[in-house]
This record gives sequence, structure tokens and C-alpha cells, in this order.
Amino acid sequence: MCGIVGYIGTKNCTPLIVNALKRLEYRGYDSAGVAVISHNQLQVQKKAGKVAELVAIVDSHPIVGTVGIGHTRWATHGAPTDINAHPHMDQQRRFALIHNGIVENYMTIKHRLEREGRTFTSQTDSEVLVQLISLLYDKVHDFETAVRLGLKEVEGAYGIAIICADEPDKLIAARKGSPLVIGIGEDEFIVASDASAIVSHTRQVVYLEDGEIAVLTRTGFTTKTIDDVPVTKEVEEITFDIEQLEKGGFPHFMLKEIHQQPETIRDAMRGRLLPAEGTARLGGLDSVKDRLRQAKRIVFTACGTSWHAALVGEYMLEHYAHVPVEVEYASEFRYRNPVLSEEDVVFVLSQSGETADTLAALREAKRQGALGLGIVNVVGSSIARETDAGVYIHAGAEIGVASTKAFTGQLTMLALITLMIARMKNLSVIEGQRIVEGLQLLPELSKRILSNTQNVEKIAEQFKDARNFLYLGRGYNFPVALEGALKLKEISYIHAEGYPAAEMKHGPIALIDENMPVVVVVPQDDIREKVMSNIEEVRARGGRIIAVATEGDTDIHRLAEHVITIPQTIPMLTPILSVIPLHLLAYYIAVARGCNVDQPRNLAKSVTVE
Ligand code: GLU
Repeated sequence: MCGIVGYIGTKNCTPLIVNALKRLEYRGYDSAGVAVISHNQLQVQKKAGKVAELVAIVDSHPIVGTVGIGHTRWATHGAPTDINAHPHMDQQRRFALIHNGIVENYMTIKHRLEREGRTFTSQTDSEVLVQLISLLYDKVHDFETAVRLGLKEVEGAYGIAIICADEPDKLIAARKGSPLVIGIGEDEFIVASDASAIVSHTRQVVYLEDGEIAVLTRTGFTTKTIDDVPVTKEVEEITFDIEQLEKGGFPHFMLKEIHQQPETIRDAMRGRLLPAEGTARLGGLDSVKDRLRQAKRIVFTACGTSWHAALVGEYMLEHYAHVPVEVEYASEFRYRNPVLSEEDVVFVLSQSGETADTLAALREAKRQGALGLGIVNVVGSSIARETDAGVYIHAGAEIGVASTKAFTGQLTMLALITLMIARMKNLSVIEGQRIVEGLQLLPELSKRILSNTQNVEKIAEQFKDARNFLYLGRGYNFPVALEGALKLKEISYIHAEGYPAAEMKHGPIALIDENMPVVVVVPQDDIREKVMSNIEEVRARGGRIIAVATEGDTDIHRLAEHVITIPQTIPMLTPILSVIPLHLLAYYIAVARGCNVDQPRNLAKSVTVE
């Protein structure tokens, strides 16, 4: 959440920072700003709105300097206005700070500073932090010490970068709860909230850990804890390519990512299937195989789309591995005093690996002695580093705020984990081989869905002005209904609800009339007939059915106004196919309504605040 970038080196940094902000804009986009030290003075430009608005200002009033910081905001404290935009300065305009996260005790600190005569211009918690550091600087007369002492007072989370006009050849960065990575170039360093802002300059990076601070100059940097204990960091290599950050000919990142799914599903499985043995080999979980086999219970904890993936995982694991599974919202789990034991396995799922609630849930699970495992996309992310063991889904950079390919990657991974655990327990080699064959076919089958999107485009055009949508599914496809509804809400701003199809009659049925589009996921599986009865109930009340059904299902045309087909697969794997038409439907409806698909209002990628 929110993009942070800082530069110290020999080049004029303003264009470089602004370009990095464009890459980071998916993380937050309600306002943006830059601060640069120019002739030993701080020059700040900031503006509510998109990075493009900032670019226009910076182009007409260029600022030149070789040390600077930039920020794209996702407001938590104070409306998205010019004044609340980052960077924030202290009263004397000596410091400029950018901040990702929340200073939870900002009011206490603010009142104290007000008593000391400080006045504030913004409503943000972040300005309080820079004013605190400035006040401490008056006492200790040292930039680094003032920052360290200031951060020691902060309750909450931060990723910060800060510069000081009195010590113009330094840039300081620190993190607690929000990610920060340092890119190492030649005579230059770039700090950023994610590697996408760095990759066009260098592949050598160092990840800061919670409670660490980095002091950068043009010739090098030191790292220590905020308690002044030096730490040695390892230099790592960024593994993804710059092309992943481009749209590659598609009008939006989201559409590109939807179309990447045949590849990303394949990448999630690559080298992990053992066809002869009818199982999966997951190197990342090798060390904990026995604990997985013996687990008395598996708990999944996640947020948003990842939570929906976890629900599918529950159905998979209970069916095939006969292990009790619970799925929890990470935000609830972390404060609920969950009952856990050493025989429990807790899986956390997160695309970014930085989701604040999920990270906290992982820490709580580990604190209580459970085994904490991760299913993560972003390599080297906080969750990936803090889990006892885990697997990457290898979906590549996901830039569209509404997750698509990461979801099908997570589902694929959950199928592999299910297969691996089930085969260690009760599943026969023949049954295992059947699942492996099903998995191997998925890339081709998903490609088939994506080869003809015109049908979905037409349906989208017809329903783009609907005010509500209902999504229904059962069994493995109940979470798909939830996910389809979430996608539509996120990017088209149409109110949508997902329900287990049979649950509809206990309430939502009251909403059904001739204006209510009802999307029903009804593939050929064990529960199809039951879903058909639920569809009859909708039809009887005039509801308009859009069905996602299996190729060759002729009967569905009798009831549905529109049918989108998916190829046949084994029931456990249907969600990986059935969600793709729902991605497309949400996408084309949002485009038809003129919405900003990649950067929907109020949302941001990688939710690093709780
Ligand atoms: N809490 C800060 C604000 O509202 C930072 C938000 C962010 O992470 O963008 O300005």
C-alpha cells in the first residue's frame, strides 16, 4: 500500500523518481509528490490525483538535485488533498519524509508537539512523525540519531524514507511492518517499497527487516537496528524481468494478466508433478512433510481474494486428504485468541506477501507453536521470509489491483498441496494419477476459454447498467461465486453478492426480479442437479440467468438467458477454469462503464496497513 521511492547518487533524480512512481502507482494513487534537495534546500511538489498530475507540475517547474524522495499515497489519515499528500516537511522545512503505514499513537505525539509549539499543516499521522524527528534533531543535532529516536516512539507500522537539508548527502530509510528494499547501483542507491521501481536500474538488492534502518550516501550504506546495533545484510538478486511490468500490447494490466493464466497455471506446476507416482513434489515443503501428514488440523488464513482461494482449498483438502480444515480472515484470526496447538498447521496465503493482517496472523500462529507455512507470489516478501516453510506460486508481477492470475495460481498450488498430502495418507496412486492428468491439461483448457471472449463481451455490454448482481455456486464453486462478485464490485462499482446457491432461498431470493442478473456457476459435477434446482427457483421469480456451464451441457440453455462454457475437468479443478469467465465478465463490464480497471477507486495493491 502506497509507493515509496528514494534516490541518492550522481544523476538528476527528479525524472527518475517520477518514473519510479509511475511503476509504483498500482500501490496507491490518490495523490503523489516528490522532494529533492536542490542547492542545499528542500524543494517539494505534491498534488492530489494521479502521478500524471504530478508529472505536469514537475515538467513545468523542474527541480534539479541528486538526492530525493517520492510517494504515491493511499490515504489513511486525512482526505486525499494536496496538503495531505507526501512528502511531509517539518515546520522549519529542514526534513522531508515519505511514509507508508500508520502511526497509531500519532495523536498522543501530536498533542505533545503542539505543547512544544509545533503547528501542523496536514491531517496526516505522517506529518507528526517528521515533526517529531525535527524536534529531536534540535536536541541531538544528528540526522540519523534523530530518526532512530523518533522511530522508537512510534506505535504502528512504517516504511519511511527521509532527507535533511542540513545533511544533504544522506538519505535514511527504515521499516517496521511495511516493505522496503534498497537497490544497489554504481555510485547510486534507490530505496523503494517494491522491487518494480528498482529493476530498470539494478538487480542487486538488499531487503530491510522490521526494526532496521539504512543510512545511505553516494558511496555506500550502513544498516543497523533502530537501537543502534549494526546488522550485516546479504545482497540478493531480483529475479523478474522488466517486461513483466509492461502491458505487452493489452489495453490494461488486468486483461494481460487474465490472458497470462494458461502460462501462470503452468508455471505454478512446473517441475512439481510426478506423473508416475500420481503426486506432487513441493521442494519448499519437503522439510515439513511429516508434520503435514500428521497434522490434526489445517488452518488457512488470508484476506480478500486469497481468502476465497483458501475456501476452495478447504473443500479440496477435506475431500481428498480427510483432514479438518478451517478458513479464517487474517484480520479476525490475529485478534481472536485462536485455539492452536503444535499439531496444527497454519497456511497463510498472500499474493504480495506483505499483507499486514496476514503477516500478523502468521506471527500469532507461530507464537502459539503451530507450524506456519506460506503460499505467496512475491519472492523475498516479508511473509515468505517469516514462514517456517512455504511455496511460491510463480505467477510473476501482478500489477492490476484486482487479482486474477494470482488467484488461479493459488488454486493450482492448493491442488498440488492437496495431492501431496492425500497421497501421503489415503489416496491411491490411480486416483493421484487422475488428478495429475487433470492438472496437466489445465493450461490448454484455460487457453480454450480465453480464445473466445466475444460472448462474454456481449453479455457485459447488455448488463453494464445493472445496479446489482448475484453470484451463485455450490461446493468447489461456491468460493468462485464469492470471487466473481468481488471482482465485479472492485472494478465496476456495481453492488454484487456471492452466495452458496442453496442459501439464496434463505434471504437473497427476496431481491430477485426481472432486473436482477444472477450469475450461476454450474459445471458438470456431483452437485450440478442441485444447482439446476436453484436456477429453477431464480427463473420462477423472473431473474435473468447467466450460467457458467460445461461444454456440451444442452439442458442449461433451457433455463439460462446466457451461457458461457468451460471445458470439462475433474470437480476439484473446476474453480481454476470457472473463475476465468468471471474475471472477463467483470473486466468487460468495468470497461463498458468507463471505469479505471487497473486502478479502481479507493483500492490499492498490497495492503500493508491493518
Ligand atoms: N498514513 C499515511 C497517510 O495517510 C500514509 C498512507 C500510505 O501508506 O499511503 O498519509
